[in-house]
Amino acid sequence: MTLEEARRRINELRDLIRYHNYRYYVLADPEISDAEYDRLLRELKELEERFPELKSPDSPTEQVGAKPLEATFRPVRHPTRMYSLDNAFTHQELKAFEERVERALGREGPFVYTVEHKVDGLSVNLYYEEGILVFGATRGDGEVGEEVTQNLLTIPTIPRRLKGVPERLEVRGEVYMPIEAFLRLNEELEEAGEKVFKNPRNAAAGSLRQKDPRITAKRGLRATFYALGLGLEESGLKTQYELLLWLKEKGFPVEHGFARATGAEGVERVYQAWLQERRKLPFEADGVVVKLDELALWRELGYTARAPRFAIAYKFPAEEKETRLLDVVFQVGRTGRVTPVGILEPVLIEGSEVSRVTLHNESYIEELDIRIGDWVLVHKAGGVIPEVLRVLKERRTGAERPIVWPENCPECGHHLVKEGKVHRCPNPLCPAKRFEAIRHYASRKAMDIQGLGEKLIEKLLENGLVKDVADLYRLRKEDLVGLERMGEKSAENLLRQIEESKHRGLERLLYALGLPGVGEVLARNLAARFGTMDRLLEATLEELLEVEEVGELTARGIWETLQDPAFRRLVRRLKEAGVEMEAKERGGEALKGLTFVITGELSRPREEVKAILRRLGAKVTDSVSRKTSFVVVGDNPGSKLEKARSLGVPTLTEEELWRLIAERTGKAPEALLA
Ligand code: AMP
Ligand code: ZN
Repeated sequence: MTLEEARRRINELRDLIRYHNYRYYVLADPEISDAEYDRLLRELKELEERFPELKSPDSPTEQVGAKPLEATFRPVRHPTRMYSLDNAFTHQELKAFEERVERALGREGPFVYTVEHKVDGLSVNLYYEEGILVFGATRGDGEVGEEVTQNLLTIPTIPRRLKGVPERLEVRGEVYMPIEAFLRLNEELEEAGEKVFKNPRNAAAGSLRQKDPRITAKRGLRATFYALGLGLEESGLKTQYELLLWLKEKGFPVEHGFARATGAEGVERVYQAWLQERRKLPFEADGVVVKLDELALWRELGYTARAPRFAIAYKFPAEEKETRLLDVVFQVGRTGRVTPVGILEPVLIEGSEVSRVTLHNESYIEELDIRIGDWVLVHKAGGVIPEVLRVLKERRTGAERPIVWPENCPECGHHLVKEGKVHRCPNPLCPAKRFEAIRHYASRKAMDIQGLGEKLIEKLLENGLVKDVADLYRLRKEDLVGLERMGEKSAENLLRQIEESKHRGLERLLYALGLPGVGEVLARNLAARFGTMDRLLEATLEELLEVEEVGELTARGIWETLQDPAFRRLVRRLKEAGVEMEAKERGGEALKGLTFVITGELSRPREEVKAILRRLGAKVTDSVSRKTSFVVVGDNPGSKLEKARSLGVPTLTEEELWRLIAERTGKAPEALLA
């Protein structure tokens, strides 16, 4: 390659990367996959290494993220700069990192490292003065980010006040969307026929950068913290490991998981173990972050323009394969919604065969502009869920066919109705709805009826032995023996399983009944809030909206289902069969009717205390009036205490509050937060 050729390619790459930075960081709507992006960046880096005369401080290799979109949020300058991380993709590259460290320090390894999950969210900076949160901001280009304090404060675990910390303190971490919340959000969007988010990271970025913090609050965002900016020196901390423990002790959520390891070999062992466990994480992790443990070494090594020299991101594999879309079939779900599923020419991705991929809804298909016969680039999101990254339009031959939605339900032939961009089978007796409903009801996280597999459900439906889940409780041994080669023993086992499923409690039952948009977390929140099915059936739309993490669409969906006579009939029959309809974790209404006001500093973040009170059915307000039931008084209380005294409103110390709660629920505050 000549210098001139290199210059041309470098310019091309820089433009391309800047464009994709903008899509990723500013619009939160990337066009290419992370792996493709990483490839572009590496190519650019390699060229700049080979032709150092073409290096430039404006190059994306020397920069972090992208300048924020100034129109939406107030730009703020971070008191100290924020950085990105360099990547390693193989064990060799990890070793090369350790060798670089050895050379730079003039010392032989192996070194001790702290290894942390690399949570795929967006990084934020919290700035505290004298222990009081002044602002929170996104990373932006590392120097200037967007001020999103109000939105950050909707995450209840973020502390507003700290004790015993340096006067000026920056705490850094990641805001992310747990996988369950992500799937729920996309399901809501799918139901509404809207555009789905490509991955939890984009969903988190899109949710944090909402103009209206009330929308952010409904999205179930979480945060985890792992670094200090200002204040690091004053903190007197010696290692990254200690730093993480210190953050925990100061009340910051440190949810991402960390471990210590020695040398590249030790890091590799942690990496391999975590790679195996990756699917079990509640969040999406795209690798591990490896940091030299000893902070003294950080000072020696310092930073490049873009990233620290003492840390590296060791990425999980993200295989992408090209394959063809052979066909599209249409599946009918529990709610009757028709989902298009792409049938792919099977490809092996990260060790397993992928042959089906969801195409979500009509909006998604339009946006991708995907046709039958297209070549597509496919990966596994979070290492699990197959996903089309891109249609390779340059490979079209003209023989591709557009995807046509069926007029009739593929399961029952009933005419489909179209609500906006959502196609639905309105037939309440559609077998697809029944099959899905029973399969879901019996699944492990729902009522956990082991032995009730798909084949058996099909047979039960075919033979007219069950029509809905309530019929399961009327099955007798003689109905079962002979079905699907079932003997007496297994029939008895199954009946025992069915019997046991009556005692799973309201949380599991609500999930099992498949209320629209209700996953495990919402089912738990609803059960905690209402306590019994009877109480839930009476809930108003407003009450549903008060439940943590219930958005407007979900609230409406739940409410409509609760009013549906068919649903009520089903619930009544389940109850008659002896299915328990009370929350296992009682206490959902322990403080109902009480209004609390908090003043002063408590031993745990105020938002946490508020969350507990609300979970128990109490109201929490910011000002004292005659309607206030109790004022909870912490250290250094404000004027609210005087107000309470003058109005004769009773006060509680924090200890008294926990005692009151324990009396009514039998639980310690920790148990109520889980
Ligand atoms: P990149 O997004 O490629 O710039 O990678 C660097 C980013 O990884 C940081 O800016 C953080 O947002 C993120 N990250 C996630 N988990 C961690 C962690 N445990 N330690 C440091 N950075 C992390
Ligand atoms: Zn149908």
